[in-house]
Amino acid sequence: MQFIDLAAQQQRIRSDIEKRIIAILDHGRYVFGPEITELEKELAGFSGVKHGISCASGTDALLMSLLAYGVGPGDAVLTTPFTFMATAGTISLLGATPIFVDIDPETYNLDPAALARAIESCRTGEGPGLPKSVDVGQLNLKGIIGVDLFGLPADYEAINALAKENGLFVIEDAAQSFGALYQGRRAGSLAEVATTSFFPAKPLGCYGDGGMIFTDDDDLAEKLVSIRNHGAGKDKYDNVRIGLNGRMSSIQAAVLLSKFSIFEEEIDLRQAAAERYTEMIKQAGLKLL
Ligand SMILES: *Cc1c(COP(=O)(O)O)cnc(C)c1O
Repeated sequence: MQFIDLAAQQQRIRSDIEKRIIAILDHGRYVFGPEITELEKELAGFSGVKHGISCASGTDALLMSLLAYGVGPGDAVLTTPFTFMATAGTISLLGATPIFVDIDPETYNLDPAALARAIESCRTGEGPGLPKSVDVGQLNLKGIIGVDLFGLPADYEAINALAKENGLFVIEDAAQSFGALYQGRRAGSLAEVATTSFFPAKPLGCYGDGGMIFTDDDDLAEKLVSIRNHGAGKDKYDNVRIGLNGRMSSIQAAVLLSKFSIFEEEIDLRQAAAERYTEMIKQAGLKLL
């Protein structure tokens, strides 16, 4: 059984996707084509944030965000161990130390009470859950990556409050929650910076790899645009920082624009299917968590 039937979905929009891809074959702007700006504007608007910065994957979105915050060797970032590899992987890739905080057994997301304890442990250098291989007291605790698992946003009201009290940044890893709501706001707008993935199996997926970063912060947005393109400055051969090639291709943006046109309807269908499952599981006398 197909949980996400991409073939059936494609049938609904096939001619629109073809039209958009043919337009790219005609205009020839395969990188930074007009589809990129249009997609960034549409999705930032949908999420309710000022800036959407498209990129090559959800992993690059995390990596670029950590780079924008200057995370590197000697730094620590708090996150959940119950997530896809990329969340903690990008922290380690930059030479920083991921410190794992336990999850809430009801939601499987970061437990704010455990987060508060972990922040305290990092300050004192002792406590449960700290990595034994490093002297945590010597690390500079910089931020938190909250992860929205299986479409359910983490408790950002509590996470953002703890971050503020302790001078930490918060990144929302919304790779699994694009389109979800939390206290009336869309996933992608729940922390200072949010990242998402457009891998085909995610809530909104392209036909390859893609990602996006969302933020209201003008300075961070400018940095992220530069980091995405080898640390570009004002012109092509002016490079002002270390960055990467994190660009999304115009063809993936075209696929996403087409799929986004039916996205809200698809969320409703998904919710209706979930409700039907819940009802039938209850009727069968099975216990839901
Ligand atoms: C899929 C996923 C990512 C990585 O996204 P890619 O586009 O595959 O690089 C990061 N975090 C979480 C929680 C994910 O589910």
